[in-house]
Parts: sequence; C-alpha cells; structure tokens
Amino acid sequence: MAAGETLESYLGGRWLLGQGVETELVDPTNGNVLATASAKGLDLKAALAFAREKGGPALRTLPYTGRGKLLGAIADVLVANRARYEEIAIANSGNTKIDAAIDIDGGIGTLKYYARLGGTLGDARTLVDDKPVRLAKAENFQAMHMLVPRHGVAVHINAFNFPSWGLWEKAACTLLAGMPMLAKSASATCLLSQQMVKDVIAAKVLPEGALSLLCGGIGDLLDHVTADDVIAFTGSSAIASRIAAHPNVLSRGARVNVEADSVNAALLAPDVGASTPAFDAFVKEVTREMTVKAGQKCTAIRRVFVPAQQANAVTDALAARLAKTTIGDPRDEKTRMGPLVTRAQQAAALDGIGRLAREAQFVTGGPDAPKLDGIDGGKSAFVAPTLLKSESGDGQAVHETEVFGPCATLIPYRDEADAFALVARGGGSLVASVYGDDRDFLARAAVELGASIGRILAVEPSIADAHTGHGIVMPQCHHGGPGRAGNGAELGGLDGLRPYHQRVAVQGSTDLLGALRATAAPLH
Ligand code: NAP
Repeated sequence: MAAGETLESYLGGRWLLGQGVETELVDPTNGNVLATASAKGLDLKAALAFAREKGGPALRTLPYTGRGKLLGAIADVLVANRARYEEIAIANSGNTKIDAAIDIDGGIGTLKYYARLGGTLGDARTLVDDKPVRLAKAENFQAMHMLVPRHGVAVHINAFNFPSWGLWEKAACTLLAGMPMLAKSASATCLLSQQMVKDVIAAKVLPEGALSLLCGGIGDLLDHVTADDVIAFTGSSAIASRIAAHPNVLSRGARVNVEADSVNAALLAPDVGASTPAFDAFVKEVTREMTVKAGQKCTAIRRVFVPAQQANAVTDALAARLAKTTIGDPRDEKTRMGPLVTRAQQAAALDGIGRLAREAQFVTGGPDAPKLDGIDGGKSAFVAPTLLKSESGDGQAVHETEVFGPCATLIPYRDEADAFALVARGGGSLVASVYGDDRDFLARAAVELGASIGRILAVEPSIADAHTGHGIVMPQCHHGGPGRAGNGAELGGLDGLRPYHQRVAVQGSTDLLGALRATAAPLH
C-alpha cells in the first residue's frame, strides 16, 4: 500500500473507491497521514443485495464442516501475512507488538477455534437445541427447537480498537452459521481490516458474496437492511442507541446485537493481606489492564475495589508498578505503552479524566497529555497511565464514566455487601475479576456479581499464573454484558452462532422430528 492511498471498499464482489475523503487515517505517534477512507457515493443497497443473493445460498449449500474449512483457510491466509499486519497495527493503532498480537492473533485464534468447532458438526446444515417433548395426549405429536441459518446478510459495525479481532470474531460465527457478512470497520483504523480482507479475497478462499467490507462512513447502509438481516454492533452506547432507534431498523425488525461500553471492575477480597499471592496477582492484573493497548479495550479494568484497610497498600503498589511503564513510540523495543489511536480519542480520554477528578484525587498521571522526549505533543495522542483514588464509592462519575484510555479509579469498600453493591453501580458490565484465596467468597462473588456482569474471572493463587487475563475475550466464553454494556451476546462456543440462525419451534409427528434430527447437529 502506498502512503496516503485512498482505501477501497469490497462491495458486490468488486473493489470500489468512494468519493473524496471522509477520514484521514493517521499514525498517532507522529500525526503522519497513512491513508484516507471514504464510502461516499457507494451503492450500499446493491452491496447488501449481492451478499444476500450470492453469498447466502453459496454458504448454505455447504455443511458446517465445509464452512469450518473456509474459516481455517482464512486463518491460513492471515498467518502467512502476519508480519505486515503487525507493522500496520503499530503505525495506525499505536500498538506495541504485544498490543498488536492481542488484536491480530486474537482474530486468527478465534477463526481457528470456530474452524475446529465446525469440524465437530459434520455434514449438518441445521442445529437442534433440545430433545423433542410431547405436547398432547397422542404420543406421536411432539415439538422441538431447531436453528436454521437466516437468509439475510450480517452487517457488522465495528469499533476502532480491534480492527482485526473485531472483524474476525464476528466473521467466524457468521460464516460458520451460513450467513454472508458485510463488515463496516471503524474509519480511524480500517487500514488493517482492509489489508486483511484484501489478502483473503485475493486468495479466493471464500464463495463470492460471502465477505464484503465497507471502508468509510456508514452512509445510508441502515436504510437498506431487511427483516432477514442481522446487525452486530460494537462501539459506544451513544451510537448503539442511534442504531436501535433507526426508523428502518425499527420498522423492519432487523435483529440487533450490541456490544457497548462498560465500566468494568476488579475486586480484591476482604481478607487479603498486603504482599500475599492474591494481592500481588491483583496488582499485576490491574496494571496490565490499564496499560495494554493503552487501556483501549472494552473489557479493561476501570474501577478497582479494595477493602478500606488495604487502600493505601494497594495504591502504593499500583503507583510503583505504573511508574515503571515506559511510554513512547511503539516502534522502540523499550516502549511498554503507546499512544491512543487518534487525537480525538486523546481529547475524549483527557476530558473523562477531568470528570473523574471532580470526585477523586490523582495518584499518578493527570488531566494533561504527557511530555515525551522526541515526540511532538502537538501531533501525537499520548495519555499518561492515570490512577485516581476515591474516598468512597458514593460518586456518580466513577461508576458511569468509561475513560477509553489508560485510566482507572481505586475505590475503597467497607464490607462484602458494600463491595457487591458498588460493582453493580456500573449499570451492567462486560467483565469483573475477583482476587482472593477464600473460595467461599469467590463463589458468593460469582453469584452476586453475576447478576450484572457478563463474565467473571475468579483468581485464586493456584491459577494466578495460569489464567488468560481479565480483559482477554476467549471464544469459548460468552462475551457481552447487561445494561449499558448493550445486553449483547457474542462468542461462547456454539452459542455464538445463535444470532445468525433463526430459532424455530417445529411441531409435528415423532417421525418427522426424528428425520430432521438425523440431519441436524446438536447445539449442546
Ligand atoms: P463508536 O464511535 O460508537 O463507533 C463504532 C462504529 O460505529 C464505527 O464503525 C463507526 O464508524 C460507526 N458509526 C458511527 N456513527 C454511526 C451511525 N450513526 N450509525 C451506525 N454506525 C455508526 O465507537 P468507537 O469510538 O469506534 O469505539 C470505542 C467504543 O467502543 C468504546 O466505548 C468501547 O467501550 C466500545 N467497545 C466495546 C466493545 C465490546 O465488545 N463491548 C469492544 C470494543 C469497543 P466511523 O468510525 O466511520 O465513525
């Protein structure tokens, strides 16, 4: 790709250029323009129709095993080109190599996982959810639930922070389910998504119409979705509300899945002493979550709950670890944390930090961009790792403000009941992690916090070095949270295929149900 190139979209089986420039894609370390994107003037109605008419039937003729093989073939293409993707992630997303691996390898790993799952479903083209049940006196009249692939197109609207993982985790479930997809990547970082899709299309590993990509603004895309289509959105709750209220989406009843923002929590158990294994695991994970991808993960820890008597010890331990974080150009091997993706994101994060500071005191970092040697503060998008400390959990902003950057607030709690109530004030979150060695407490936390959290990571010393991390989304596990997190459901093994299927109750003779079951695969 030449510097400053305008990115084409892949729609209707062709690479197409939008008019003018809607967005400049920049390197957030130095402000250099890397490419531009625009979807202006593109015929999005025709693109959706092409995917429905060409891609859908082609995918549905394949059994799940065949579609799983497609996912494996996509993963092979991406693995072969990985080095180039890493360079793009460093330049356009400000990623360190570790950050880039979470995005790129996370996407590839999810594709491989679903490729393997597809292989377990054999020649089936439908899924069955449960065993038949009798409905009336006659024993041979029964009912069961079956999942059949939907006949529309899956419209994926993705956030800027995971141009690879966001694209492929949705693609894996959609294509395995037998639906074609049109992905609209976030404009600021769509360079990586576009280069990946370019390689996959060039390798000719997918049927025509199975995969489309929109680089640029959303335009009138949502005016053309139909009742058969599925919209899977990841991003802010503000845009999620606009999509859900879109007149055509509402009147057609298109299915909408939302993965939105979240004020996630980490909780240190009440009886944990300073410098114990549980305490150390907690401090390590909070620091990692604040700084990996410069805090730009929807799952990152934003609120840090500690027993009041440990508040000072935890504050000191976190401050000491954060002080060791080297911030700078992600191309430098010594750098542990790069910039945010754009200056607009930097401004939004600093604004959010300012709001938190009305209720909490700074421990490290602050409301201004850091001054870094050799980096132009007028062009870059850095934010210092910022830890705030609240006197109590009584405020509003600490529970409601998602600073999408390297920032968290430490909040002391009085007792177990207080801790659980404070976590729930996040209004529905994607993930909470709990650290302690009292297994009864961890079990109570899983049940109590589970009411408002999509995923709970319970870390006791025996798994301190073995767990996959608070913020890492594993394809085996449900991803999504209630309330402000969007009420969505993604991944979670075969359950991740549900949004792209229609669940149908079939009532009929036992022989008919038996025949349908013989050609279907069980969901569980
Ligand atoms: P965003 O501003 O809400 O944008 C998300 C996507 O929506 C982008 O592709 C954007 O396109 C598109 N969009 C903008 N206006 C739209 C409209 N009127 N109708 C339909 N789509 C529209 O979010 P972001 O800034 O990219 O991402 C950060 C947010 O995403 C954070 O709040 C974070 O918590 C959340 N997030 C959640 C998850 C999760 O899994 N729950 C994962 C990652 C991020 P343009 O880029 O072209 O504007």
